[in-house]
Amino acid sequence: MGLDILIKNGRIMDGTGSPWLPGELGIKDGKITKIRAKLGDSAEQVIDAAGDIVCPGFIDMHSHSDTYLPLSGEMESYIRQGITTCVTGMCGSSLAPIPPGREKEAKQHFTETFPLFDQVTIIWNTYAEYLQEMAKIPCFLNTLYFVGLDMLLFAGQPGSENRPPTTEELSKMKAFLEEAMKAGTFGLSTGLLYPPQAYVKIEDIIELARVVADYNGLYFSHIRDEGAHLIDAVKECIEIVEKSGCIGGQIAHHKVDGKAYWGASKTTLQLIEEANDRGVSVTCDQYPYNRSMTTLSTLLPPWAHEGGHEQLLERLQDAKVLNQIQKEITTSQGKWENIIQLNGYDRIYLAQTFTGKWKPYEAKSLAEITRIRKGKDAFDTLIEILVDEQAACWMTVEGIGDEDICRIMTSRYQMFGTDGAGIRRDPNHGTVHPRFYGTFPRVLRRYVREEKILTLEAAIRKMTAFPAQRLGLQNRGLLREGMWADIVIFDPNTVADKATFEHSHEFPDGIPYVIVNGKLVVENDTIHKVFPGKVIRRQN
Ligand SMILES: [Zn+2]
Repeated sequence: MGLDILIKNGRIMDGTGSPWLPGELGIKDGKITKIRAKLGDSAEQVIDAAGDIVCPGFIDMHSHSDTYLPLSGEMESYIRQGITTCVTGMCGSSLAPIPPGREKEAKQHFTETFPLFDQVTIIWNTYAEYLQEMAKIPCFLNTLYFVGLDMLLFAGQPGSENRPPTTEELSKMKAFLEEAMKAGTFGLSTGLLYPPQAYVKIEDIIELARVVADYNGLYFSHIRDEGAHLIDAVKECIEIVEKSGCIGGQIAHHKVDGKAYWGASKTTLQLIEEANDRGVSVTCDQYPYNRSMTTLSTLLPPWAHEGGHEQLLERLQDAKVLNQIQKEITTSQGKWENIIQLNGYDRIYLAQTFTGKWKPYEAKSLAEITRIRKGKDAFDTLIEILVDEQAACWMTVEGIGDEDICRIMTSRYQMFGTDGAGIRRDPNHGTVHPRFYGTFPRVLRRYVREEKILTLEAAIRKMTAFPAQRLGLQNRGLLREGMWADIVIFDPNTVADKATFEHSHEFPDGIPYVIVNGKLVVENDTIHKVFPGKVIRRQN
């Protein structure tokens, strides 16, 4: 019996954290069939991996690809960096469930968070229908899904109102969540920084997470605050996992935002250690950059978002309200995650915009844009952009210190996530965060090869076996006979990220082959138009 693919002469690094061993690996019908020192088998295609590492495909633990997927599954930015599976539905934002008849309203509700949502035709209501539709989309890589608190708030009706859900609304939200768990979602995600999720109290989140616990699901959270109140926010996340009894929790894109608080990761990692010591399984993911990326409107105080998108736009036209916003931004001390106060206008850079007017200013800081345009005040620039872009545009913020990045990276509870999205290489997307293209190769170049913060095998384990274990995937994340053939082949001496904050749509170097479910998708500079990606459902 001939193999589909035979990989020869490579250094096989199996994902367990063990160093590489020489060997040959055979693939047939999507699976790894044989790993031996030498294989005599014939194969349709032979890959000579001399000098290269052969390892499991990378698992992106935190992705916003779901917002782009209905438009295209050609996730070039991901497949070229070796990602073969991504976890979506993060930060409380998921594309389902959407109750029948409320599709238009859903689009309105999510215009700020989902960049191209107006182009998506919503042909699903339940979570099961959503997963069925996603499975029909030709996709380069595997996707798996969480259900987001924001969508549960929308479906259960409190929507954008600044109040806790009523008992009746909460039970509706629980019913929607239960349907999603039955359909195969891996758990509940929250983004407690973002209104209206920011309005939800811990008791109600615990109540929801109990549903997740009943189905052996996970709780993934962009926690309530990553700056002044980071430590309280980590404690809250741990408490939610502990009190709900759900099988595990994940602190999303763990970081310390704002120079004044750098060093706080010593305490947060200690809290994670202690939680695990007493039997509460909490892990975290991280992207290896000193800038975050989120919607520009996150700079406004939470109350400015009350009532939803339309009301926010109205407030942006009201001089009295704007005065109040500006005052609160300059004076509020720690009542909310005030990113401007944490980092200043010169560390807040405009990213994706969509109307054309502001495209020339992408990748420039709000302070610099104000100077170039001879504006009076960066606050006025901010408001002008928000009004022009209908508040649906993005920023990057330089607020993360290297020491915290390295400290978190070396925690045994850490793994990697892009917090980006798998997209086609299309400049029309505007300036995105380089993590969309470079997260995994950046770790391998900078933190493994150059700075030696991690050994190569430790980094690979954090990109493969560890996330697979966290998710309960029994047949991915390791190189073992019988497992799905998700495989990356890269040169440890040349692998490097190329995307920058100015030129974000650049593919990395040194990753010649990427295989998904036994199909070769990346072959040197070519991306084959094959779509082996599967929708992975949680196994009960
Ligand atoms: Zn987030």
